[in-house]
Amino acid sequence: MKLPSFDYACPATVAEVVALLASHGGEAKPLAGGQSLVPMLAFRLASPALLVDLRKLNELRHIAIADDGVTLGAMVRWKDILEHPTLRRAHPLLATAVAHVAHYQVRNRGTVGGSVAHADPAAELPGIAVTCEAKIVALGKAGRRVIDAADFFLGPLMTALQPDEIVSEIRFPAWPKQRRFGFREFARRRGDFALAAAAAFFDADGKVFRGVRVGAVGVADYPLRLAVVERLLEDGEIGEAAIAKAEAAASAAVDPADDIHATGAYRKALIGVMVERALRDAIHRADG
Ligand SMILES: Cc1cc2nc3c(=O)[nH]c(=O)nc-3n(C[C@H](O)[C@H](O)[C@H](O)COP(=O)(O)OP(=O)(O)OC[C@H]3O[C@@H](n4cnc5c(N)ncnc54)[C@H](O)[C@@H]3O)c2cc1C
Repeated sequence: MKLPSFDYACPATVAEVVALLASHGGEAKPLAGGQSLVPMLAFRLASPALLVDLRKLNELRHIAIADDGVTLGAMVRWKDILEHPTLRRAHPLLATAVAHVAHYQVRNRGTVGGSVAHADPAAELPGIAVTCEAKIVALGKAGRRVIDAADFFLGPLMTALQPDEIVSEIRFPAWPKQRRFGFREFARRRGDFALAAAAAFFDADGKVFRGVRVGAVGVADYPLRLAVVERLLEDGEIGEAAIAKAEAAASAAVDPADDIHATGAYRKALIGVMVERALRDAIHRADG
């Protein structure tokens, strides 16, 4: 279908973007890579009066790696993450998860800000942000807000952003060198959104789990941290018995709905298997 008609602006500063969004009271939308928004327009799932293109905002293209963590500007593309010379070492879980996002053409344009703002319940980056306790920085007419990822995703395609706000960056806490992690995803075809995906990481203290985090996408209206699984593993012995318990607990912790892609029962079983495999990868991955 042809796109609905809309006005178009391509400002050069964040201040102009915010002013335009604020003056249109929810009738304007930012345009980043267009990989989700343009299909939404074509399907008439969105019909904003004004598109505010963010592509001139070079100030939102930074990837900063520092002692206190990794910061991604909102206009960083998937490709930028995957081709960065040191980001994989600085945050291997992030780089591993992003490698599952879509395929080359989409990764060449799609942005991290667009992904978190779009809030697809099966998207990898929102899941990683929640699991890693990342912070999402929003800029609007009232200034800057720093929002915990856990409070940002409110439902399918719904976030805590106000209509005049844009995402400016996503901040991930530092990733200790010896941290062990796994990320597993199951999709019908390579590059499709996940039917379900799980991330798991911990800091081993000898043979004991410490600082366990387990997250899931594709099994609820927004990305989840599976706190019940984390509690089950924390301070316990690392090994097969723990993995088996975690698999059962992960399945029991979610109640996904049926949809056109899979039944809820299928996804419930699948997330257990994804958690089991992610944990096993984490246990056997000695060096990140
Ligand atoms: C075939 C295909 C397969 C895909 N597979 C996957 C996948 O496996 N995993 C996955 O995660 N994604 C997948 N995607 C989505 C893709 O990752 C998109 O790039 C991403 O969801 C949106 O990023 P974008 O930059 O294209 O945003 P856009 O499409 O430009 O915008 C998306 C939404 O976010 C808003 N927005 C954009 N930037 C900002 C900002 N800085 N602040 C506030 N609001 C903003 C827009 O107004 C719009 O509502 C797929 C897309 C396609 C077409």
